Amino acid sequence: MKKKLLALMLAASMALGTTGCQNIAKLFTYENSSPVENAKDSIANEFHNGDTAGGDNDIAAMAGSESKDVRYQDDYYEYVNQNLLSKIQLQATDAHWDWFSELSAEVSSEMEDIIRELSKDGKTYKKGTAEQKIKDLYECVSNIENRDATGLGPLEPHMNSIRNAQSIDEYVDALAHLSGEFGFSSIVGGYYVSQDKADSSEYSVYMMYADTLIGKEYMEGEATKEYVDMYLDYVNDMLMEFGMSASEAAASTDSIETLLRDICASSLTTEQRYDPALTYNVYTANELQKLYTNVDVDKMLKTLGISGQDKYIVIDVEQAKKINSLLVEENLQALKDYSSFVMLNDVAEYVSSGYVKLHDDMQNSLYGITQSWDDEKIWMDLTQDLLPWDFGTIYVEKHFSQEDKEAVEEIIDLILKEYEDIIDKQEWMSDATKAKAKKKLETMQVKIGYPEKWPAAKDMMQVTPISEGGSLLSNWLVSMQVAIDAQLQKLGTKVDRSEWDVTPQTINAMYDPSNNEIIFPAAILQPPFYSSRNSKGANLGGIGFVIAHEVSHAFDSNGALYDELGNYNVWWTDKELAEYDKLSKSIVDYYNNYEMIGINVNGDLTLMENIADLGAITCITSIIGDDEEMLDEAFGQMAYNWASADTTSFMTYLLSTDTHSPNKIRVNAVLSSCDAFYDIYDIEETDGMYVAPEDRVGIWK
Ligand SMILES: [Zn+2]
Repeated sequence: MKKKLLALMLAASMALGTTGCQNIAKLFTYENSSPVENAKDSIANEFHNGDTAGGDNDIAAMAGSESKDVRYQDDYYEYVNQNLLSKIQLQATDAHWDWFSELSAEVSSEMEDIIRELSKDGKTYKKGTAEQKIKDLYECVSNIENRDATGLGPLEPHMNSIRNAQSIDEYVDALAHLSGEFGFSSIVGGYYVSQDKADSSEYSVYMMYADTLIGKEYMEGEATKEYVDMYLDYVNDMLMEFGMSASEAAASTDSIETLLRDICASSLTTEQRYDPALTYNVYTANELQKLYTNVDVDKMLKTLGISGQDKYIVIDVEQAKKINSLLVEENLQALKDYSSFVMLNDVAEYVSSGYVKLHDDMQNSLYGITQSWDDEKIWMDLTQDLLPWDFGTIYVEKHFSQEDKEAVEEIIDLILKEYEDIIDKQEWMSDATKAKAKKKLETMQVKIGYPEKWPAAKDMMQVTPISEGGSLLSNWLVSMQVAIDAQLQKLGTKVDRSEWDVTPQTINAMYDPSNNEIIFPAAILQPPFYSSRNSKGANLGGIGFVIAHEVSHAFDSNGALYDELGNYNVWWTDKELAEYDKLSKSIVDYYNNYEMIGINVNGDLTLMENIADLGAITCITSIIGDDEEMLDEAFGQMAYNWASADTTSFMTYLLSTDTHSPNKIRVNAVLSSCDAFYDIYDIEETDGMYVAPEDRVGIWK
């Protein structure tokens, strides 16, 4: 398991993202886990040799097969994937497997060979080259004595300022210095620079919400109580590792929990964070001062390096009000303990072995992993994480095919054209609104492969070797500073829409409403998603479904609120919005009825993604028309591509926090609502997949 899973829950609070973290819709949100070694060879052969996922998905051929004990009429996903999934034995080090994680592991393993070679070649490389950075960083990562000796390094004075603060003013000042210098934020003073939602050609400062650690959904969920207890044990152990006595740590953990529950009760839910109507709250510095009456706002903004802006966008106003009420002397000790812990948690992976182990153990228990990765694997992952663009250039040199790019561009054109027809068919939309929707399709920017111009952060990130006083912590802090500097440099400049924030080796796809653009990194253009050897039906069910899903995000419950230029600008009539809401409500209810491991899907949390999946299947099946063989190939490939295996704990995590439905439901719920599915398969009312025509859902049908 890649040791960054939890980081995703926290990423939004780290001010690391150069884009509004709650804005971009990704194909899936969690980080990838490892390959399933036992099954790997056979699986790899299966899809590399086969034209359409090894023929395993040929429903027509499989129908009536004796070996299948699941009927496709009852559970299409299980039927298609049972051979594959019978080979997947989640290893003790894994919480999750799917094709995304499988392909990520392959990319990672290739990068590991490069690291291994460099670490042994005995050569010295020129400063600033990818080779020098990788080699020297890996040395810092893998030198445990150096890491143990570094301690909290440059963060020590910041920690002391928090611990020694005698007043709320001193405490907030300490937080502002930490945030301004390294981008760490806990309760106040966190920010990031991103495109202004109302004017996407400009950059604005967004004031971040608090770091709620394990998150509101876990803190308040019924199914997650035991995980919260686990997490609080971790808080306690980290504070003891930091030097508190057992009784001090226990008391601090209690007060941190109280604070956390209080903040969570006033916080937006994950799905609400996508809603610009709730999160785009413009404040002037003066108004910000009225919001934070217990903070010297002017001083804080200066320390953060963001004073003098015309506007500050507050993402979660109710939470900010709550935090302001908590910033009083009687809470000072609890606040200091909370911020100390947040900082220890943020740095845990990059410091001494004691913290690393506690952090690892916590993640493992949270996701149901029973064995940690070996050290070398963790070090190599860390090295790749800290130099994403250097590894990106290496990846592209080896893997990008211009022919594949052109073939995928053709599929994209096909999908965009089909979407125009789908929009035209909507009887509830006025001609004027249809014209605007089609304008959005016409002007949609498409990014495939890798950026023409690498992000400035690539060259800004430099690695200092141990021989010159560098350490893992100091180099990681440089990467944090680079992220801040790169953002600050953008303030006051016009938005460059050719920029990419996604590395080419990422196995994922995205829609960014602020740029009205779809993004397909180089690494997703490979089997089982796409192959030049695949049938047209298989590619439409594979990469085609992925593309149509991303295009659909332009018209999901969040994306529909942005215009063709990427501005938050409601272009629907009230009557149309009411109809849209009615359709959305039926989708929420529909998904609420699906469950995994005895926990129901959260239809509100997953609405945006479900709309995109439902829209994608409409689009793909409309392109195919009544070609039964092609429909069969597309459905089979789509189901095959979402095959996955999870620990119960990881599934609990997904059901609580992921904006996507679990993979099995992404397949079955979508197909059960797709008329073409019933046209080619023999589905009776008594079958598991059957949903009555009037109960089938979707905005774009
Ligand atoms: Zn999506």
